[in-house]
Amino acid sequence: MTDFDHLAPPLTGGVQQIATAVWRIVAPNPSPLTGPGTNTYVVGSERPVVIDPGCDDAGHLARILEVAGHGIDRILCTHSHPDHSPGASWLRERTSAPVYGQPAPDDGHQDLTYAPDAGLADGERIAAGEDTLTAIHTPGHASNHVCFLHEQVGLLFTGDHLMSGSTVIIIPPDGSMRAYLESLRQLRELPLAALAPGHGAVMPNALAEIERVIGHRLAREAKLVRALERRGAATLDEVLAEVYDDVPAFMHAYARYSLLAHAVKLVDEGRAGCEAEVYRWRES
Ligand SMILES: [Zn+2]
Repeated sequence: MTDFDHLAPPLTGGVQQIATAVWRIVAPNPSPLTGPGTNTYVVGSERPVVIDPGCDDAGHLARILEVAGHGIDRILCTHSHPDHSPGASWLRERTSAPVYGQPAPDDGHQDLTYAPDAGLADGERIAAGEDTLTAIHTPGHASNHVCFLHEQVGLLFTGDHLMSGSTVIIIPPDGSMRAYLESLRQLRELPLAALAPGHGAVMPNALAEIERVIGHRLAREAKLVRALERRGAATLDEVLAEVYDDVPAFMHAYARYSLLAHAVKLVDEGRAGCEAEVYRWRES
């Protein structure tokens, strides 16, 4: 197992080598949702692959080419949100490298320029220079989400399935809390050493982090359950501030999406009902 050279935080607009033949290039799109910016990864010295080209920013794309060269073998996208995939078509035009990823759903939250040349089967192995990646289907944050496992070092490129410093937003109906938790549980079966997220620093102790996030989501669900139990029935806006009382108010508009995802999960499981946007607790 390799020691990771860079547990340091990503630098907006910077290039950092994080393991042997693995580089992180941070796009200049910092925000409360994207952290220091979207992480693009280059894996492999000869015929490398690029994971998540990020936003369509000329300086960022030029840095990717500086690191990867024009011999890029493939461009991989974890999913098609507008901070992850728009750079793919620019890179494809300049290098002729094909874009691999799952087709985009049409839910109003996707990069409309995203047009992969080929899909990725769950478990599909991909040469990345002298190393190998395995595609892992991880629906939840988005229905077309894929993570990539670097087999030689146990580094999982997580896209937006897991990020450091924050929890990812899940926007129904394309995003699904049930699918998200199931995808997290399946990752526990993999030989993981560390997580290289789409936003934020490399996270060592991969399995502990996955357990922490599962616990965090279930604790959030439990807060929603308590809020509904106490009221019997409520709209999401009536319980939002209570369920997210540990999250700054300026983030509540985003948190509301994940609250909806939690509520939909309770309805799908038969634990709550929903009529005219009022959620009614069913379990006694
Ligand atoms: Zn995303």
